Amino acid sequence: MQISPIPGLADDINEIRLKTAAIVNEEIIPNEPVLGQGGEDAHKIRERIRARVRREGLWAPHLPKEYGGMGIGFLKHAYMNEVMAFSPFSARLFGVEAPNAGNAKILVKYGSPEQKRDWLEPLVRGEMESCFSMTEPNSSGSDPRSLKTTAVRDGNEWVINGHKWFTSNGRRADFAIVMCRTEDEGGRNDKMTQIIVPMKSEGVNIVRSVPVWGHTHGDHCEIKYENVRVPITNQLGERGTGHKAAQDRLGAGRVFHCMNAVGGMWRAFDLMNRRALSREVFGGKLAEKQFIQGFIAESYMDIQTSRLLTIHTANVIESGGDPRTDISALKVYVPNAYQRVVDRAIQVYGGMGVSGDLPLAGMFTGARTLRIADGADEVHKILIARNVLRVYKEGRTWDFGL
Ligand SMILES: Cc1cc2nc3c(=O)[nH]c(=O)nc-3n(C[C@H](O)[C@H](O)[C@H](O)COP(=O)(O)OP(=O)(O)OC[C@H]3O[C@@H](n4cnc5c(N)ncnc54)[C@H](O)[C@@H]3O)c2cc1C
Repeated sequence: MQISPIPGLADDINEIRLKTAAIVNEEIIPNEPVLGQGGEDAHKIRERIRARVRREGLWAPHLPKEYGGMGIGFLKHAYMNEVMAFSPFSARLFGVEAPNAGNAKILVKYGSPEQKRDWLEPLVRGEMESCFSMTEPNSSGSDPRSLKTTAVRDGNEWVINGHKWFTSNGRRADFAIVMCRTEDEGGRNDKMTQIIVPMKSEGVNIVRSVPVWGHTHGDHCEIKYENVRVPITNQLGERGTGHKAAQDRLGAGRVFHCMNAVGGMWRAFDLMNRRALSREVFGGKLAEKQFIQGFIAESYMDIQTSRLLTIHTANVIESGGDPRTDISALKVYVPNAYQRVVDRAIQVYGGMGVSGDLPLAGMFTGARTLRIADGADEVHKILIARNVLRVYKEGRTWDFGL
């Protein structure tokens, strides 16, 4: 990856970008084939890279310094993600992989001092893993008020019963943050609470790993919580704040995922151009064919548009504005653009594009998945229109930012 300081951007942001890029270029990209295989060699390389990341002060950009993170603001983190995501292996090596990163942020915001000591600190040190267990097979994830899992208070314990699936990282996790219905009115507007559940608790039964994109050994788990008892002190934040906590988690996460997607798009674009200039077909380079030039031009436009939208949203958040409409806009636009760009890069490579010799196939399925996870396209489009129309119904005009 070729990188230089962006003129006009604060020096410290440029410094973080350049230091991050050096690690990605020197340590991660050359080792991608080994990292992709796993095993002992990959483990050693991961440990070496993590040590350098920590030494250079780039560990856990999403967390405050007091919890072992970088203590940088939203915008710096967004810019860092773009560079980091040039390799799909980076997030874990910089201590910012999902779902641990989102769980850590929720623990920082809602956790009691004891919860921070017992769950957050080991998580940040890399001594624990976690998962986030919200989506259910028998209710719509797009409509979280329909969730059925309950937690009922019994003395000093919560008793949890429910059926979840797509709980990513479920088998590796030491604890889950489980979204539960805790009020007992029985209506749609009942409030939810997030509760920390150690995965070793009696009654946490992993049914299976749900195969995703044909991977039968993944870690997206279907889990039954059957009379699981945890102390009342495992409740995160005030009773009934589960939805708010989920929004806090997902809102910021969407911006970071989209900046990751921009980084992924640059990588696909880079690969596409290199191949176009080196592959001969029918007596000429691919780069000379107008179909391929169209792929390059359209991809460039997709990336720049996504990048501007994402940075704009990060700026709105950083300056304390209301980012909800922009978050929904980028959550629809960027994964679709990511999917288009990677699709073109795959096409340029032909068969090799879908092989395991390149990161493109994994990026493609990741981009497609992003259009569902964290809120499906349709749900976010509805939110955009609702927010805009509400302003006009109130007799005002949408703030064009002019
Ligand atoms: C790989 C992967 C990892 C995941 N990891 C996690 C995790 O770690 N923890 C977790 O809790 N969840 C996780 N999820 C679940 C994810 O968040 C949900 O799949 C998502 O919220 C959608 O919910 P659903 O699958 O129940 O789809 P549904 O809510 O049933 O929606 C299905 C489709 O209906 C359409 N739709 C919905 N509402 C409307 C509407 N109002 N108007 C028009 N169309 C509509 C959309 O096209 C949508 O895609 C993961 C999912 C995947 C694929």
